[in-house]
Amino acid sequence: MHELALAQNIIETIHQAVPPETWKDVRVVRLQVGTMAGVVPDSLQFSFTALVSGTPLEEARMEIQQIPFVVECETCGQTSTNDTGISCCGECGSGNTRIRSGTELQVVNLELEDVQEEAV
Ligand SMILES: [Zn+2]
Repeated sequence: MHELALAQNIIETIHQAVPPETWKDVRVVRLQVGTMAGVVPDSLQFSFTALVSGTPLEEARMEIQQIPFVVECETCGQTSTNDTGISCCGECGSGNTRIRSGTELQVVNLELEDVQEEAV
C-alpha cells in the first residue's frame, strides 16, 4: 500500500505542475527512483495505472529511471555503490560518508501530447 500512497503523491505533483485542461494530454511521467528509496517500481506503476484509470490522466504512463545508491567517502574521497543501502565506504570501510544518490523519488519531467515538455 506504500506505493499506492506514493502514486497518489505523484498524481498530485502532476496536477500542480500542469493546468487542468492539459491533464488529458499528459503521455509520459518520468521519475527518478533511487534503488534505496524503498519503492518497488512495478508496484508503483501498477498503483499509478489503477489510480488514473477513468481520470483525465489515464493515458499517462510512467517511465522510471532507477538511480544507483552512491556513497561518497569523506576519508578517502572515493565513491562507491552497493545494493544494500549500507552507507560505509566500499573502498576503505570508513563510516564518514555522504549519501550522494539512491534515496530519491521524484518526478523529473512530464511529456505532453504536443511534445512540449514541462519541467516540474
Ligand atoms: Zn573511503
